[in-house]
Amino acid sequence: MKPSHIEHIGIAVKSLEETIPFYEDVLGLKCHKIEEVPDQMVKTAFFHLGQVKIELLEPTSPQSPIAKFIEKRGPGLHHIALAVKDVDSDLEEMKHKGVRLIDERSRKGAEDLDIGFIHPGSTFGVLLELCGGGHE
Ligand code: ZN
Repeated sequence: MKPSHIEHIGIAVKSLEETIPFYEDVLGLKCHKIEEVPDQMVKTAFFHLGQVKIELLEPTSPQSPIAKFIEKRGPGLHHIALAVKDVDSDLEEMKHKGVRLIDERSRKGAEDLDIGFIHPGSTFGVLLELCGGGHE
């Protein structure tokens, strides 16, 4: 595998409504999309910052992994997403290298991209997302 760049940085927040004004009014970024991802029980807001996006994630259910994350650690940095060409083949390759995966196969994430998460237990503490398949 060879990631081309950081696709986005995921940040867990309690409320998009409360958080977006900081990004817009203080940082001067523009929220270009709010999208619900039912599969992950989150509502996401995206900001472009050069080639990298910032993805704010608000849980839509107490069962959401983001709700559990916030409960345990509070809001903040949640994951880093690497842009790759083929998420499934990279997941396969990592599995062969003994890396612990959260997703053995890709699924559809926000912006209709293929995504797959790698367990932080195998990445020295960083939740990594592989992201690809859509527009680059
Ligand atoms: Zn993400």
